[in-house]
Amino acid sequence: LRNTRKHTEPLSFFDREKDDIDRENQLIQALGRALKEKELQTHYQVKVCLQTGSADDAEALVRWYHPDYGMISPGEFIPVAERHGLIMPITEYMLYEVCRQLQKWDQEGMRSMKAAVNLSARHFHLVGANRRLINIVESMHIDPSRIEFEVTETAAVADLDQAVRLLEELRRAGFTIALDDFGTGLSSLTYLQKLPADTLKIDKSFIDTITSSEKNQAVVKLMIDFAENAGMKTVGEGVETKEQAEILTELGCHYGQGYFFQKPVHPSQLQTLFSIRQQA
Ligand code: C2E
Ligand code: MG
Ligand code: MG
Ligand code: MG
Repeated sequence: LRNTRKHTEPLSFFDREKDDIDRENQLIQALGRALKEKELQTHYQVKVCLQTGSADDAEALVRWYHPDYGMISPGEFIPVAERHGLIMPITEYMLYEVCRQLQKWDQEGMRSMKAAVNLSARHFHLVGANRRLINIVESMHIDPSRIEFEVTETAAVADLDQAVRLLEELRRAGFTIALDDFGTGLSSLTYLQKLPADTLKIDKSFIDTITSSEKNQAVVKLMIDFAENAGMKTVGEGVETKEQAEILTELGCHYGQGYFFQKPVHPSQLQTLFSIRQQA
């Protein structure tokens, strides 16, 4: 893992390759253990309604704190999990956690809360994966309309027919679907029109540049109008400044998500935010 890499000496190509394989094997063993020991944590990041400022929706993001190696980012271990057949157990784990959290929010009187779970690109190739997700939510007695599955535009378009079929099945079961990291996939509009989605999440890269030129704003406006015409909601991802939030609001974007509003946090901290909001 990160700490085992030796940066002091330059490695030969073959050494480096071996180092990477060792690291991947180490990581996958540790991850298997982490899943068994329930070492993975679920953090939540709110999606804020730009019109009203209310936040009754949050995305679940997996967190792995390894006792020896420290925090390992999902950007690092999710691709490894995908390659080694561990992605479905992670998705199922996260979905269970989200169902438990929704139950908890219900008990605390926050019945309007919704949550989102990220699906991997591998999802579209796993036989019976949809059924397993649907069964989890049924067994936890959660209304599926309170759960949104996020799938990247790239993942969905890479296997369009299968993606359309499986996403439609999830929608028929009552879930909603969001296209994540939207705009980065270079997909043609013809493809995008075919994808059954309720929400379009405009990638952070577009939000980063939204304040720098009118041209960039026009591109975001185009995405918002496209979504509007297709009956979809829009979320601006990675909003870090007030200015970005203001422009998104002006352009008619529905929700904002990002460090400006709140970083992903442990659910206990998220609750504090709501109690403050409720008192105000
Ligand atoms: P994503 O689903 O697009 O999630 C957004 C990422 O951007 C998260 O990183 C979040 O912490 C980060 N972010 C949010 N607001 C800001 C901001 O204002 N500034 C900056 N710089 N970053 C912001 P994270 O949690 O490291 O996750 C990275 C990616 O890993 C996610 O991208 C998602 O594709 C994947 N991932 C995370 N959790 C899961 C999971 O449970 N299952 C699966 N399959 N993938 C997951
Ligand atoms: Mg996401
Ligand atoms: Mg995203
Ligand atoms: Mg992403």
